[in-house]
Amino acid sequence: MDMYCVMGNPVEHSKSPWIHARFAQLMGHELRYEKRLVALDGFIDGIRTFREEGGKGCNVTVPFKFEAAMLAARRSPRAELAQACNTLRFDADGIFGDNTDGVGLASDIAHNAGIDIAGRDLLLVGAGGGASGVLGPLIEGRPRRIVVANRTSAKAAALIERHATLAASHGTQLQASGLDVAGAFDVVINATATSMSGAGVPVPASVLKPGALACDMMYGPAAQGFLQWASGNGAIARDGLGMLVEQAAEAFLVWRGVRPPSAQVLAELRATLA
Ligand code: NAP
Repeated sequence: MDMYCVMGNPVEHSKSPWIHARFAQLMGHELRYEKRLVALDGFIDGIRTFREEGGKGCNVTVPFKFEAAMLAARRSPRAELAQACNTLRFDADGIFGDNTDGVGLASDIAHNAGIDIAGRDLLLVGAGGGASGVLGPLIEGRPRRIVVANRTSAKAAALIERHATLAASHGTQLQASGLDVAGAFDVVINATATSMSGAGVPVPASVLKPGALACDMMYGPAAQGFLQWASGNGAIARDGLGMLVEQAAEAFLVWRGVRPPSAQVLAELRATLA
C-alpha cells in the first residue's frame, strides 16, 4: 500500500491523516498516511528513513518548509518563488518539491469564504514557511495592495523583493513592515506561529476595516484567541481549517493525479470537530 505522511515539530495537532484517509476513501485509492514527529535537527534523516521504508511522498509543516525546498532536486514554479515546500513527492529520479499552501488559502478565501480579493487591501502577517507559500497565489488574485508584516522586518523585505516582478505584472503594490502596521485592511491573514505558541495576536486591532475578513492559518483550540479577537473587533473570523483541506486536496493531486472533493471533506471535518 502506498505510504505518505506529514512531518513536523510539533505535529500532534495535525488533522492531515484524517483528511487524506477520507480523500482516499472517496476516490477509491488505497493508501496509508500518518504523522511523524521529527527532531528539530532531524528533518533530513526523517526523510531518508521514510523513503527507505517505501514512502511515496510527504507533507511538511512547521518549521521544516525551507529545509524541504533545499532538499528537493526539482521544484514547481510556485515552490521556487516561495523557496518553501509543504509537499514532497519521491520520484524515481529524486525528490520533487511543491507548495500547495498558497493555492489552498486562495481557494478557501474565494470559494469557501466567498470573498473576491481583487482590488482589496491585504495584510499578511508573518514571513515564515506559511507566509512564503501564500504570497504568490494571493498576488495572482490581483489585490490593490499587500503589506507583509513580520517581527523580523528584514524577512518581510526579502519576501516582497522576491515577488516584486509578479506583483508588478498583476498591478499589486507590495510593502514590507514590522508588526507596528499602519492603516486598515479588507483582509488580514495571520501566518505567524503566535496562535500555535499561545503568544497572542501580533498586530493591533486598528488593522481591521469594519467587516474585514480576518484569517488565522491555525485551526482548532489554538486558533480561538485570534478568532475571538477578530469577531470582537467587528471582523469576519476564519480559521485555517479550510486552507488545510484545500492544500491537502492539491497535495493529493500532486501525488495521485486526481483532486478529491475538498468542500465535502471540509464540511465533514467541521462537523466532526464541532
Ligand atoms: P515558521 O516558518 O516557523 O514561521 C513562523 C512565523 O511566525 C515567522 O514569521 C515568525 O517571525 C513568526 N513568529 C513566531 N513567533 C512570533 C511571536 N511571538 N510574535 C510575532 N511573530 C512570531 O512557521 P510557518 O510554517 O510559517 O507556520 C506558521 C503558522 O501557520 C503555524 O501556526 C502553522 O500551523 C500555520 N499553517 C497552517 C497551514 C494550514 O494549512 N492551515 C498551512 C501553513 C501554515 P520571525 O520571522 O520574526 O521569527
